[in-house]
Amino acid sequence: MATNHKRGKEEAFRDTISTVDDKGGRVWLYPKKPKGKFTNYRDYLSYVLLVMLFGTPWVKIGGEPLLMINIITRKFVMFGQVFWPQDFYLFGLIMITMVLFVVLFTTVYGRVFCGWLCPQTIFMEMVYRKIEYWIDGDSKQQQRLKKQAWNADKVWKRVSKYTLFYIIALAISHTFLAYIIGTDELIRIQRSPLEEHIGGFLAIIGFSWVFFFVFAWFREQVCLIVCPYGRLQGVMLDRNSLVVAYDYIRGERKEGRSKFKKNEDRAELGKGDCIDCNQCVDVCPTGIDIRNGTQLECINCTACMDACDHMMDKTGLEQGLIRLDSENAIADHTKKRVTLKTKAYSAVLVLLMTIIVFLFTLRGNMEATILRTPGMLFQEAEGGYITNLYNVKVINKSNKELNLTFELKDHKGFVEMVGTKILHVEKGKSNQQAFFVRIHEDDLLDKKTEIVVGVYEDGILLEEDKTNFLGPNK
Ligand code: SF4
Ligand code: SF4
Repeated sequence: MATNHKRGKEEAFRDTISTVDDKGGRVWLYPKKPKGKFTNYRDYLSYVLLVMLFGTPWVKIGGEPLLMINIITRKFVMFGQVFWPQDFYLFGLIMITMVLFVVLFTTVYGRVFCGWLCPQTIFMEMVYRKIEYWIDGDSKQQQRLKKQAWNADKVWKRVSKYTLFYIIALAISHTFLAYIIGTDELIRIQRSPLEEHIGGFLAIIGFSWVFFFVFAWFREQVCLIVCPYGRLQGVMLDRNSLVVAYDYIRGERKEGRSKFKKNEDRAELGKGDCIDCNQCVDVCPTGIDIRNGTQLECINCTACMDACDHMMDKTGLEQGLIRLDSENAIADHTKKRVTLKTKAYSAVLVLLMTIIVFLFTLRGNMEATILRTPGMLFQEAEGGYITNLYNVKVINKSNKELNLTFELKDHKGFVEMVGTKILHVEKGKSNQQAFFVRIHEDDLLDKKTEIVVGVYEDGILLEEDKTNFLGPNK
């Protein structure tokens, strides 16, 4: 997507990416430290997100983690609820709903996720970059340090920076693994002898080096060339999507950009409000010039908005030359950002969220399957009773142990458990047991009767299951 004024004339910047030079080599970026209102908001949000990111695996609901995606044992836990293979339709629906949610959200609100919520950006800009500013200094000092010959100061800075980088990568690696195997297993790996968990140990070390590589060297390349969400922006955004946009009408006017001169009325002279200070480019973590129009590389981090607002304040011009707005709103010079589509998509997003919550509440705490034992017909017992043998399998999806009893409902007769009278099912596990159903022959109207078995815990009916009872011909 490009702004109208650029289309067809200065589109050459789209032929290359900002971090690759003419010879195909990497252009290392030294973005200037951003300051301002939006940077402050991002800082606050990142503190909350980092606490959530590192803290979530340690939070437990009823003994189960808040979130665990154990692809190894295929155990998935969300909000403390264990998802069993039987629940995968629900898991699938949630995934599809989330994908739809992301598409609709992006169409309306643009790439806000990338700049403000994505873990890659949070770690890169709010953790690693800050350490870099702290040790190496701002953009200019970093460039100077890079060119400078090796001396004690440079060695000290490099060693301390990369040591800190690796320690954080190790923390991320532990957290990442905690989301997969859970904190209990992670602690077990930490505490038991190395030879007992060599696989887990190698995974932690392997991931830590991957994260170190990503944040120490690969950096913005993740957003530019690897992230599929970033690559799909072109199809998800349209001219009404909210994006970080340069107001080219105000920025250029008739005479285009020019350096700032005191006491001149730029609007009167036809000069654009862009004073060509390049601050918006200097702070950009992906190295682009947003004045060229919306670009794939823009992660909507809003650093350029802060930089430009600062320059506008210094020159006495109105803030918002670069702002969150839609292409259409800028082209039409209107403040109308909430279109009918925005309202409709937002309504669909709310609906999708409601569906997810509804599906969660519909999901029961247990699931019992009662089947007549294959190959068995019926047996005639004393006193004119007929018995059938069944097998019940119970999956306990709740966070507590279940002690279950079974009774016949809507029919005269008895349930007689084989072995223990109570079926004990541990939380998050399944168990099965056989039982007989005994019904008097006089109470059977047909050779095949549908019966209902109630599953109880402490006298409370949890579930009813239908099955068939076989008897002699009538
Ligand atoms: S153009 Fe602005 S919003 Fe986009 S990535 Fe660069 S600094 Fe961030
Ligand atoms: S920061 Fe604002 S004024 Fe300076 S070059 Fe960028 S758009 Fe123009």
